[in-house]
Amino acid sequence: MRTTCVIAGGGPAGAMLALLLARAGVEVTLLEKHADFLRDFRGDTIHPSTLEILDELGLSAEFHGLTHRKTDRLVVWTDERLVEVASLRGLKSRFPYIAFVPQWDFLNLVTLAARRYPTFRLVMEAEVVGLLRENGAVRGVRYRDAEGEHELRATLTVGADGRHSDVRRAAGLVPVEHGAPMDVVWFRLPREKTDIDDTFLRVSAGRLMVAINRETYWQLAYLIPKGRFQELRAQGVEALRASVGTLLPFLAGRAEALESLSEVSVLQVAVNRLRRWHRPGLLLIGDAAHAMSPVFGVGINLAVQDAVAAANLLAGPLRAGTVPEALLRRLQRRRMAPTVITQLAQRLVQARLIRPALQGSARPLRLPRDPSRLPVIGAFARRFIGLGVLPEHVRSPEAAARRAGHPDRPRS
Ligand SMILES: Cc1cc2nc3c(=O)[nH]c(=O)nc-3n(C[C@H](O)[C@H](O)[C@H](O)COP(=O)(O)OP(=O)(O)OC[C@H]3O[C@@H](n4cnc5c(N)ncnc54)[C@H](O)[C@@H]3O)c2cc1C
Repeated sequence: MRTTCVIAGGGPAGAMLALLLARAGVEVTLLEKHADFLRDFRGDTIHPSTLEILDELGLSAEFHGLTHRKTDRLVVWTDERLVEVASLRGLKSRFPYIAFVPQWDFLNLVTLAARRYPTFRLVMEAEVVGLLRENGAVRGVRYRDAEGEHELRATLTVGADGRHSDVRRAAGLVPVEHGAPMDVVWFRLPREKTDIDDTFLRVSAGRLMVAINRETYWQLAYLIPKGRFQELRAQGVEALRASVGTLLPFLAGRAEALESLSEVSVLQVAVNRLRRWHRPGLLLIGDAAHAMSPVFGVGINLAVQDAVAAANLLAGPLRAGTVPEALLRRLQRRRMAPTVITQLAQRLVQARLIRPALQGSARPLRLPRDPSRLPVIGAFARRFIGLGVLPEHVRSPEAAARRAGHPDRPRS
């Protein structure tokens, strides 16, 4: 079997790249090892940068038709007060807010849009298990499905198979680890209409919890020191319920709804990136090239930005049937700065706020009264969180026309 571009992994990076290439007339096959996109406790923060991309693709109305919640500010709740650390109000974008949408809804939307193009093929329950090589270049993949093992040859192979990438391992590429002081324990508790409306980070000495308002329930992320989940497990579910009560007294009575620790899911936080994102015939993007910390909730958005940059640069050469490695190098150069700068900012927050708080510091960070209102800092945070570093735009005549129709939008 043969295709022009084979993509391993139907997460945000792989699904978006497949859509963009199919739309540009490139024959593309997307292989996803799971039977569906339904995985709980995945990132679900769609930032303005991604909302703009969806708009450029004509998918904004469909996206906003999904059940979602919007927030236009990031709030930290200390022992003393509620602090608005960043606000997206005033961001130069048609979409000055973060939309919370379950990741599976987002992926269904993107892959459904891709199905409208005849050059798109999606194979679910297809796990990439190895790479095909010829004359020192990658020339496709071996994948396994219910019927057995297959070979799929391709001009370009893309590894978008996430932080534990099999493609990366098969290519012999090893990311440089930058470390994180925490792991995250995810679980949910019922929400009542009279509860606080914000999505927020609660910080207290020795304890941190992110609470995401999902209307009928709270999705909670309890931060623990790295590698300490076994300790929490030994203490039992009561210890976790007690932490909920201490940090969020309004939820104390509802913590009983968490019956056992089998209902929680643990994210081992990693911050890493590859030195080299490519080999001849092979490209890695998204978490496979750079795992992001959950700080700022930008993982999905960076993955989407990689996909847009890759499609802009590679669709033409793919249609012509050849992708020189120099182009892959150029793509890495383009995406490296946003990756490095975002990871540096995440590591700063990890070092200055999260680590001291986990170590028990009573005042891990001295926050000014309203940081989001400070002229320079407020504007910088708004742009950094909303649009990211060097935001990408879809390059196509239709996308340019759509952007031109909205004068408040940046032009590429
Ligand atoms: C618990 C948790 C919470 C998070 N919270 C946020 C958040 O709030 N906001 C945010 O922006 N980011 C968040 N992130 C990070 C975000 O989910 C990732 O950065 C983003 O999904 C990366 O996209 P990706 O497409 O590169 O990889 P992934 O989303 O990991 O997708 C990889 C895909 O490849 C598939 N796959 C893996 N191996 C193979 C194989 N061998 N063959 C075929 N398919 C394969 C997987 O099934 C998966 O569908 C969170 C991550 C986790 C784990």
